[in-house]
Amino acid sequence: MNIHEYQAKELLAQFGVPVPQGSLALSADEAVEAARELGGSVWVVKAQIHAGGRGKAGGVRVCRSIDEVHAAASDLIDSMMVTKQTGDAGKQVRKVYVEEGMDIDHEFYLSLLVDRETETVSFVVSPSGGMDIEHVAQVTPEKILTVAVNSETGVTDDMATEMDEFLGLREDVRAEFGELIRNLYRLFLERDASLLELNPLVLTGDGHFALDAKISIDDNALYRQQDVVGMRDLDEEDPRETEAAKSGLNYIALDGNIGCMVNGAGLAMATMDIIQLKGKKPANFLDVGGGVTVEAVREAFKLLFTDDHVKAVLVNIFGGIVRCDIIANGLLEAIKTHPMRVPVVMRLVGTNEEEGRKLIHDAGLDVRWADDLDQAATLAAQAAGGAT
Ligand code: GDP
Ligand code: MN
Repeated sequence: MNIHEYQAKELLAQFGVPVPQGSLALSADEAVEAARELGGSVWVVKAQIHAGGRGKAGGVRVCRSIDEVHAAASDLIDSMMVTKQTGDAGKQVRKVYVEEGMDIDHEFYLSLLVDRETETVSFVVSPSGGMDIEHVAQVTPEKILTVAVNSETGVTDDMATEMDEFLGLREDVRAEFGELIRNLYRLFLERDASLLELNPLVLTGDGHFALDAKISIDDNALYRQQDVVGMRDLDEEDPRETEAAKSGLNYIALDGNIGCMVNGAGLAMATMDIIQLKGKKPANFLDVGGGVTVEAVREAFKLLFTDDHVKAVLVNIFGGIVRCDIIANGLLEAIKTHPMRVPVVMRLVGTNEEEGRKLIHDAGLDVRWADDLDQAATLAAQAAGGAT
């Protein structure tokens, strides 16, 4: 689960990490009020969307008067912002964060992530902050340092020194930086983060500040992160994925036109691969899981039938714990309110296969049957027609 920059900064502040003073505004008038309350003579108005790359897209405005704050906020609020990370459709800006302007000496990059290679939480730091870190990694990989944290020891003095030296920090800010990375590590563990990225972390005359912040929380830990769950912004999430999650389905919207319903993540991946091999693209990843109910299957079919992009549905069920009759009944329930408006190709094998097929036959549904995955994918590709 992702949260907004202003929310990430709230978490950082709770863990003693310095952040610029700021407040959220939903209108230009609120932005002006926020700027007046902050005081000073320079403010930064920042679009709050779940995507980075805002700076280059005009979503971060440095303002030198209250009038400029008003203009920046009215320009940003309700606009569609297209950045490198939003896709072409862009994201609607609904709120801005107004911050005190900072006098920046240097911009660093600092992140914490779960490093699959070393199976540790690792810091990634670079003296080249405020830029696209993927680009830095590609062009000047020597400017990136990865430091794995041993979970037994936590952040040690040696790790801090290694980062200090790599970043070329002045002697007088090293102690403060050491405390900062310890606090970040504590936040990462205690809030079950999967990613924490400060780009940039800046050095000013007063020490280090997290100028930009991105935090992602491990979905599997949300049950014990109620504070963070309260930060969820459904406007930023795909409504189909939100609906699917309510029914316990693992669903991810994709950009193809063959809707898929599969049990098991591995089989779902294989199904998507074979669709690609047939020259088509899946409209979604959907794993209904093992303990699925008729109601959840009904919701899954509804999701597929209400998606305008879907031109054909491919059901690939290998019944083990999942029973084929549950899938069939789910379909029968779904069509009571959502007619089958596109061809449905079914490969139903395994537990209660006969019952499943019979239910669908008896209902007189026009389902195209396949005996194996290859045939199912071929039929679905044909049914989806010329468009990809
Ligand atoms: P992103 O483009 O979405 O990653 O947005 P950031 O929050 O990282 O902002 C982009 C850039 O705007 C930063 O790298 C800074 O160079 C600049 N910026 C942001 N806040 C301030 C500020 O308070 N003062 C100054 N001078 N520049 C800022
Ligand atoms: Mn940034």
